[in-house]
Amino acid sequence: MKGYAMLKIGETGWIEKERPVCGPNDAIIRPLALSPCTSDVHTVWEGAIGERENMILGHEGCGVVDEVGESVKDFKVGDRVMVAAITPDWNSVEAQSGFPMHSGEMLGGWKFSNFKDGVFAEYFHVNDADGNLAHLPDNITTAEACMLSDMVPTGFHGAELADIQFGDTVLVVGIGPVGLMAVAGANLRGASRIIAVGSRPVTIEAAKGYGATDFISYKEGPIDEQVLKLTDGKGVDKAIIAGGGVETFEPVIKALKPGGKIGNVNYLGSGTYINIPRAEWGVGMGHKQIIGGLMPGGRYRLEKLASLISNKKLDVKPLLTHKFNGFEHVEEALMLMKDKPKDLIKPVVVIEE
Ligand code: NAD
Ligand code: ZN
Repeated sequence: MKGYAMLKIGETGWIEKERPVCGPNDAIIRPLALSPCTSDVHTVWEGAIGERENMILGHEGCGVVDEVGESVKDFKVGDRVMVAAITPDWNSVEAQSGFPMHSGEMLGGWKFSNFKDGVFAEYFHVNDADGNLAHLPDNITTAEACMLSDMVPTGFHGAELADIQFGDTVLVVGIGPVGLMAVAGANLRGASRIIAVGSRPVTIEAAKGYGATDFISYKEGPIDEQVLKLTDGKGVDKAIIAGGGVETFEPVIKALKPGGKIGNVNYLGSGTYINIPRAEWGVGMGHKQIIGGLMPGGRYRLEKLASLISNKKLDVKPLLTHKFNGFEHVEEALMLMKDKPKDLIKPVVVIEE
């Protein structure tokens, strides 16, 4: 089969590989739509997870079941399915302890385009099919379903990690597709004021639609100073970090009220340490929490998030700014993600509607 791969750090290309083998609990999926992710860019061009040779890229997509193992109960050949980017081993002790995304080891649930071939192939393999697939509802398109692999669950996880409550003032750093879904998640959880850090007109427009109320630009001075000015020196209750690098934590801690929480879903592709400002962290006693998390995967979560789209509480169409038709366009779509033209939020490659 054909796949689009990371050949080594900094290099990508089409390769031929054997079709993956289906174990008793697994499924083999033929993709119906695919989407590249900023994480693919960190992986290939920043070498963020180290060297990988001839590894098929991609972890966002949906498809049709082409083969199932003999122990799979709820899915059969021909079913149209959604798949999360994170596919935990649901029998692991880590999953039992409430952290399926770390099954086996830290970040162990992140298998596609990390520990095994990803979804940018004619066929891809899904472990624990009953736990990691979900049936695609009729009123969700294949392009929309791709946003349920990673953008919606990750952005919403940011809102969960930051523990957004009714009436909170929330800062969202970075309003790419993940940050936009963090805005939407914070809004659905009842935030009263959502201050978004971003400057591109296309993302500002989308963020307004998702519930952002105020905008600042990290290019126009330190984030903390701008936030403190907007909030009469009080700062924000919660913050979600979905963009930037290790340097974003310092201003966000400064902009946070005592007792505030930071949910980070950003993939920190470079740098060695994160600086925590001692004084603004309450000289060690400010009750300012930082939690960074890989999004949880799994069927239960996929079904619940999909029901937000099915029932018109969430519209992911504004994310889909660039659409390609045909598997062969995967390369172009990934290069768009790498080059990030000003009008891009998210590219999607549709193989079948
Ligand atoms: P993106 O690059 O499209 O968006 C990030 C945005 O942050 C950009 O618009 C950029 O202009 C902005 N930005 C850059 N520097 C900034 C700064 N200093 N302050 C504020 N904003 C700044 O990326 P995305 O696709 O939205 O993904 C966001 C991050 O989430 C990426 O690092 C991605 O790898 C990561 N991610 C994490 C998970 C997870 O499970 N935790 C899953 C998917 C993606
Ligand atoms: Zn992704």
